[in-house]
Amino acid sequence: MQTVETRPFWEAASRGELLFGRCGSCEEKHYYPRARCPYCFSDQVEWQAASGRGHVYSYSVVRRSDPPYVTAYVTLVEGVTVFTNIVDCDIDRLSIGQPVMIGFEFCSDGQRVAVFRPANLAVESQSSAG
Ligand SMILES: [Zn+2]
Repeated sequence: MQTVETRPFWEAASRGELLFGRCGSCEEKHYYPRARCPYCFSDQVEWQAASGRGHVYSYSVVRRSDPPYVTAYVTLVEGVTVFTNIVDCDIDRLSIGQPVMIGFEFCSDGQRVAVFRPANLAVESQSSAG
């Protein structure tokens, strides 16, 4: 839901950027960004843009949907964990710890949201071509 507090987050998503929060007081990072640090309750929270690289922390395949889709927790290289969807993947070959890269897709309401896809696709296609 968009509120004054989360507006910068959604505006960044529209630009193709995923933001997380970083506390200027205790320096802990959190997702998603909040006005107060969830660790020390300081309001000295800064926005930081994610690099977009991470790995699958856990996932589940929703097979009752057609087509099936994947919800997952992805841990970014920055150390925060994001609840998201994994797209463009072979759902039977997805694995915990698999490297993923960020992408952005439009929701039905027109908002762009961060999704992730396997980061090793390019590598695989190169090796199979050789
Ligand atoms: Zn803090």
